Amino acid sequence: MSTGRHEASRRPLYRTLRWGRIAVSLAALAILTFGLTLSAGEIPGATRILARVQILPAVAGFSIVIFVAWLAVTLTFGRLYCSTVCPLGTVQDIAARLPRMSRRDSRPYRYSRPLQPMRYTVLVAVLGCLMAGFMTVPSIVDPYTAWERFCLACLRHIFGEPPLSAAAETASGDAFVPALTIAMSSVAGAVVAIATVCIVGALAARSGRSFCNTFCPVGTTLGIVSRYAIFQMDIDTDLCTNCRRCVDACKSSCIDIDDHIVDSSRCVVCFDCTDACRDNAIRYTPGRKQLSIPMMQQTDDSKLVES
Ligand code: SF4
Ligand code: SF4
Ligand code: SF4
Repeated sequence: MSTGRHEASRRPLYRTLRWGRIAVSLAALAILTFGLTLSAGEIPGATRILARVQILPAVAGFSIVIFVAWLAVTLTFGRLYCSTVCPLGTVQDIAARLPRMSRRDSRPYRYSRPLQPMRYTVLVAVLGCLMAGFMTVPSIVDPYTAWERFCLACLRHIFGEPPLSAAAETASGDAFVPALTIAMSSVAGAVVAIATVCIVGALAARSGRSFCNTFCPVGTTLGIVSRYAIFQMDIDTDLCTNCRRCVDACKSSCIDIDDHIVDSSRCVVCFDCTDACRDNAIRYTPGRKQLSIPMMQQTDDSKLVES
């Protein structure tokens, strides 16, 4: 059985992991944004590398190695992709953070049930389009391509040099170039780029990672795998005081404190909950703790499925 003294030693580690992942996510967003927006000639190598490790463009371009590598990372550590290299994930974190910086308007999050029908409908639709070779829909809903389009179609026209050729400027490979070219070459395309970022940002400001856990096909795919991740967030009921601070802090709305369950399919491994918990009761661990009352141990996935 764990003790409070033992758990206290983990808090500095969790705090370091939290700030480390924030630093990595901000650096990745900055490298992508500045590289796509401000480069006068060739897109910088660091930007190109970050673009090439994005999941949906890799799948569309048949880069199976990238896809399998991310599946392996997710199966081990959970949805690190969503908390580090996805630019739209970091944009959502910033949009969610801004209205919550005021102490008078802290806007706590609340647990919500997963919207499985919506998640899987979008995923199946995107997979169907990919298999049919119809790239426009996947390129619109893909989070990386949405940010790339926003940088190339909007920010670059404002702050950088307008692209001479969409194909030459695209960093993510050739898979989405036709759709991206169409989007960039029209006013309607720019409107789509701005509207996508504004809608996702507004959703994030209101309810955290709701886009991630409702619409994003990449998030749904990773969520299927992260349910079985080796490392997951787990609540120690011997230490938990039901103070709900972790629930208030969880931007994925995935902590059901009434039943002491963390829905790992929606958890983006941000470590905000471990930082909020003063009793060290929520842990990132490879071994799920056996609860004090074994009958409370949740093994039935139906608990996480919307009724
Ligand atoms: S769920 Fe989608 S939009 Fe959200 S961080 Fe993950 S890949 Fe990006
Ligand atoms: S913050 Fe910690 S003690 Fe409070 S409800 Fe969450 S896990 Fe329990
Ligand atoms: S459970 Fe914790 S680590 Fe997971 S998304 Fe919520 S706050 Fe972040």
